[in-house]
Amino acid sequence: MSCIFCRIVAGEIPAGKVYEDDDILAFKDINPARPVHVLVIPKKHIESLAHVSADDTPVLGKMLAIANRIAVEQGSPDGFRIIINTGRVGHQEVPHLHIHIVGGPEPVGPMLKRI
Ligand code: AMP
Ligand code: ZN
Repeated sequence: MSCIFCRIVAGEIPAGKVYEDDDILAFKDINPARPVHVLVIPKKHIESLAHVSADDTPVLGKMLAIANRIAVEQGSPDGFRIIINTGRVGHQEVPHLHIHIVGGPEPVGPMLKRI
């Protein structure tokens, strides 16, 4: 198994797990960009948001629905940002679908530098 996030799901690589259920897993980003930086992934290998099917709708909903609870528990009580990098243009580095939850006590800043 070569996918690093599938290996985390399988317990072959340690991760700072903060939430887990039958379908999804959340763990701390190894190289945090903000004081709170958690990744939420489906346990099933889905390469990216460009590879989802209608069958994946429930798990995608679960990933978003748990985000606020995780953010609050991890120290981002007043909001957070969700990022889903997708494919080459989205600068996705790990080819297993994941949402980034980024936040902390202070605002994370503007979304992107404007053109
Ligand atoms: P992306 O560019 O959206 O694919 O982001 C991949 C994220 O995965 C980066 O923020 C990395 O720091 C993070 N990452 C890579 N390997 C691990 C790991 N073993 N445990 C936790 N986070 C990781
Ligand atoms: Zn995978």
